[in-house]
Amino acid sequence: PFVIAGGSCALNPEPVADFFDAVVLGDGEEVVLEIIETVRSGKAQGHSRIEILHMLAKIDGVYVPQFFEPRYKGQELVEVTPLVEDYDRVTRRVLSELPPVDILVQPLVPLVKAVHDRLGVEIARGCTRGCRFCQAGMIYRPVRERSVEDILRLAEEGIKSSGFDELALLSLSSGDFSCLPGLLVKLMDRYVHEYVSVSLPSMRVGTLTPEVINQIKRVRKTGFTVAPEAGTDRLREVINKGITEQDLMKSCQDAFGAGWNLIKFYFMIGLPTETMEDVDGIVELAVRARKEAQGKRAQINVSVATFVPKPHTPFQWAAQLTLEESKERIDRLKNTLPRKGFKLKWHDPYQSYLEGVFSRGDRKLSVLLETAWRAGARLDGWSEHFNLTRWQKAAENAKLDLDWYLRARDMDELLPWDHLHCGVDRSYLQKEYEKSLQQTYTPDCRNHKCQQCGLCDFKTLKPKVNPPETSRHSPALKSSNRKDNKQQERTVFSYRVHYSRTGDARFLGHLEVLQLIFRVLQRAGLPLLFSQGYNPSPRVSFSQALPVGVESHVEYFDMDLAVPLNKPDEVVKKLNQQLPGFIRVTDVAPVVKKSPVSCLIHYEMRFPDSVKTDYVKEKLAVFSEKDEFIVERIRKRKKRELDVKPLVRSINFKEETLFVDLLHPHNAAGTNPREILEKVLGLSNTEALLTRIVKISSREVAAKS
Ligand code: SF4
Repeated sequence: PFVIAGGSCALNPEPVADFFDAVVLGDGEEVVLEIIETVRSGKAQGHSRIEILHMLAKIDGVYVPQFFEPRYKGQELVEVTPLVEDYDRVTRRVLSELPPVDILVQPLVPLVKAVHDRLGVEIARGCTRGCRFCQAGMIYRPVRERSVEDILRLAEEGIKSSGFDELALLSLSSGDFSCLPGLLVKLMDRYVHEYVSVSLPSMRVGTLTPEVINQIKRVRKTGFTVAPEAGTDRLREVINKGITEQDLMKSCQDAFGAGWNLIKFYFMIGLPTETMEDVDGIVELAVRARKEAQGKRAQINVSVATFVPKPHTPFQWAAQLTLEESKERIDRLKNTLPRKGFKLKWHDPYQSYLEGVFSRGDRKLSVLLETAWRAGARLDGWSEHFNLTRWQKAAENAKLDLDWYLRARDMDELLPWDHLHCGVDRSYLQKEYEKSLQQTYTPDCRNHKCQQCGLCDFKTLKPKVNPPETSRHSPALKSSNRKDNKQQERTVFSYRVHYSRTGDARFLGHLEVLQLIFRVLQRAGLPLLFSQGYNPSPRVSFSQALPVGVESHVEYFDMDLAVPLNKPDEVVKKLNQQLPGFIRVTDVAPVVKKSPVSCLIHYEMRFPDSVKTDYVKEKLAVFSEKDEFIVERIRKRKKRELDVKPLVRSINFKEETLFVDLLHPHNAAGTNPREILEKVLGLSNTEALLTRIVKISSREVAAKS
């Protein structure tokens, strides 16, 4: 296979260049199709691997690392020699506008909880605010806004086909979208009765107007995060943040006024020219912001990370803090931020140190990466797996000085990514660095004149910004056919849905099945009722949670609907069309209300090979001779005892299968199949987990039977 990388880190792929055949620089939508076509036709015509790589190198935006050879003097990079004629520089691929929307209307819906578990609609690409530390602000230029009509269509079809209950309007700075207030009104009007909330994950201070705040809180209040980045106005001028303390206080005032009581602040430490006064400014700013709550209960969470200089930014030449400096500044914050009403979170400075090494690293780091991996480095992004000593030892073996990668670079030094062009001129970045030292502001070319970064030719490529009135002229979305929840509550129609969870469904946890069912009900378009309050959710209640690893033919949930179902059989069909194959709805019928009862549940279990038949028979014989069988368990940190003998109504072993009937009393402690396997049969925890357990049937029994 060809191993090909892409994404924002791809603009300096040198530290991992030895592991990749090719790297895509820039927008991937078109180039991915061109790569597929090239590889397919290259293979069909019998071309060798190296010939296909030469073909790939002809595609705009495709970098083939092995066609460039770096030369070093000691640790210093002195030359990068192109090895293929007419291929001495690779330029980022930039689309003149965001691609047509048809490919985006059927989003992948994860069955397990994902980090961004919502429908994301990219409303714009590129941000030209010009923050000097920000790589995304340079390598995704220019601004290209999607039309309001396309966004509305994507939202409509995406929500319908996914069942997500949150719609995120994505871009580097969503608040800068030119038609945001009008767009939000339309989306909220459309989805407020379906309890689909709209979130703006990347809002900038100053764009969070009361109008916008009031719209986003109409369904659920999502988190409120602001990124001052630096503690003082002076340092914010250095980084070209373009916001003042006054702007920040106004945003906090609006947020507290609109009902939020928690605000999250993001800061960096170690930005160029930072002094201890700027570090102290972080605490002072947080304290002043909390006062904007004017005596109401309020919490400010302050997140701090060490600044890591990034390639292709004006600060690519700046020094990063040493490990000791980072720790000292974080300690200073820990000691000075008041405890009551504030919480400090910091990014591990050891991780920031290694990030700094790789951020501006060269191809020599491929050796470091492999050496550390061979020494056991895995999943280092997770703090519990991260071990800087392992990396330091690997660096020693590879004869690399890691501190050297954090140093300031000379302006005329050859940088490892200089043969990879993001479109923004090196001279522009240099000028911006100089302007930062003079605290000179560079305005946004989206609404000021071009700042001459070198990217646009103004024929095929230029900023694409919607005229502000577009949203007003776009057609209103058809509003939901659901009525207001409060009106619906007068009559509630409750149905019980029986279903099976077999095969791979055993790997899903209870909460994951809940989420999956919620989305399926939404996709099937059932007239669900929702709970009230800050976080409305469908009024659905589930039978007792099935442990992970257990399959079942007899699960159910009850749902409250606003209107009766005329043809429940059709609902069964509809739901099954939306469900993955390992969950099947078997019946939908009105709920018959009655008092809770005990159940007799029949299980079938098949053991892993390590469990021998004779052993099982021996243990069952011992169990059957006992009048009581006490098991010990820890509940709420206390040791408790339970006699499971009366709960095991029958237990037989034939044809390599264990058949068990367990009583689950509705008003007293019960047992479960794994407890029986471990305590009665004496299986190890692993053997019990590897035993295939299927819940076959459930029968109601009288409480004392
Ligand atoms: S060339 Fe001018 S308009 Fe284009 S992104 Fe750069 S500064 Fe903005």
